[in-house]
Amino acid sequence: MAKTTETVLEINLNHLEHNYRYFQSKLKANTKFLSVVKASAYGADAVVIAKKLEALGATYLAVAYVNEGVQLRDAGIKMPILVLHPQAANFKILIDRCLEPSLYSPKILNDFIEVCAAQQQKDYPVHIKFNTGLNRLGFWENDVDFIREKLKDKNDVKVTSIFSHLAASEDLNEKEFTKTQIHIFEKIAQEFNDKINHKPFKHLLNTSGIINYSEAQFDMVRSGIGLYGFGNDSKIDAQLRPVLSLKTIISQIHKIEPGETVGYNRKYASKGYRVTATLPLGHADGIGRQYGNGESYVNVNGQKAPIIGNVCMDMIMIDITNITCKEGDEVVIFGEQPTAEEFASTANTISYELVTGISQRVKRVIVG
Ligand SMILES: *Cc1c(COP(=O)(O)O)cnc(C)c1O
Repeated sequence: MAKTTETVLEINLNHLEHNYRYFQSKLKANTKFLSVVKASAYGADAVVIAKKLEALGATYLAVAYVNEGVQLRDAGIKMPILVLHPQAANFKILIDRCLEPSLYSPKILNDFIEVCAAQQQKDYPVHIKFNTGLNRLGFWENDVDFIREKLKDKNDVKVTSIFSHLAASEDLNEKEFTKTQIHIFEKIAQEFNDKINHKPFKHLLNTSGIINYSEAQFDMVRSGIGLYGFGNDSKIDAQLRPVLSLKTIISQIHKIEPGETVGYNRKYASKGYRVTATLPLGHADGIGRQYGNGESYVNVNGQKAPIIGNVCMDMIMIDITNITCKEGDEVVIFGEQPTAEEFASTANTISYELVTGISQRVKRVIVG
């Protein structure tokens, strides 16, 4: 890999393939694989990632919102796309572009049936979401009768799948709670099959669910963060490869005398002779102020360089005293070392937030 000459987010498709195969190897032969590509494929590039996954044979994609699905259709993606959290205002566009809605409440089900009827749709594929304890989106267990009444004697929509979402699949201290969620989902599925004369397929697990509760894979699993290289578990992470690396270069080096300060509001005060480097990225690129003045470090020629002072909009300063480097040298913000998970943890957040927050100003470079 050639060294970078500007700030870039590298997207490694070979690593995506490795991670995809890793999770596939955890599944039964007939379990479908839904790849979650919401939020620009976790900050990468939804179209590039979706095309690679299509080539790898993934069965389904999911996005959060209708406009994300439209972007994939515009790029020629033909796979079925589940829209996890659609709004009624976009239902016409959703139908136009053959996107499949998650219907999560009586109101949204009513709204969707109405639009389907007006558009003379027959058997439009929909996915019914049940709440089993996350208490975020979803019908309640006792809504099955309502759903049956709504669907009875009508064929505007066809329930392709029913699903739910785990609240704490990565946290083994919550095993009992998670097992209860699995049990509730099984009960709902049974009731659904009994009361509605039709058998939709079922899915429940996200990435950590695949790792910790593979017995509950039902007919399909939904993986996001794992595809991009994180399993919320250091043992799993060691077997995955980071798809995303944020790299930049040293713009300028300064020699600082004792008592001098660095950056806005003079938040870093030097206790001795220090050498600092200024990097061309800042909070407008997605590296928030919480990464300044603390525990966060970046990688300069294999060595740890702490971020000092306040993170600026377009720049970050680091301490490179005792590190052999020069202006123009490459700096890794996250990637192999530190990983996005490690870098995020220094600011008390998680890889999900860090990678989805890298702004569109940062050039995406595809590897592989
Ligand atoms: C985002 C999301 C996922 C993917 O979760 P990961 O932890 O990234 O694997 C799966 N299902 C639903 C409903 C989601 O919203």
